[in-house]
Amino acid sequence: MPDISVQSPQVPLTQEEIEERLCPTCKNNLVFAEGCNICIECGYSGCTAG
Ligand SMILES: [Zn+2]
Repeated sequence: MPDISVQSPQVPLTQEEIEERLCPTCKNNLVFAEGCNICIECGYSGCTAG
């Protein structure tokens, strides 16, 4: 069986991925810093483990 767990290194952002960069609380743009998407408006922090 082929291993399809490997993702392509450079794929264009999908609409969902773009929306993931918006704050789920206030829909403001998230600032990406040190592996975390941080909202400077409400203080939301969406750190991605790994
Ligand atoms: Zn926010």
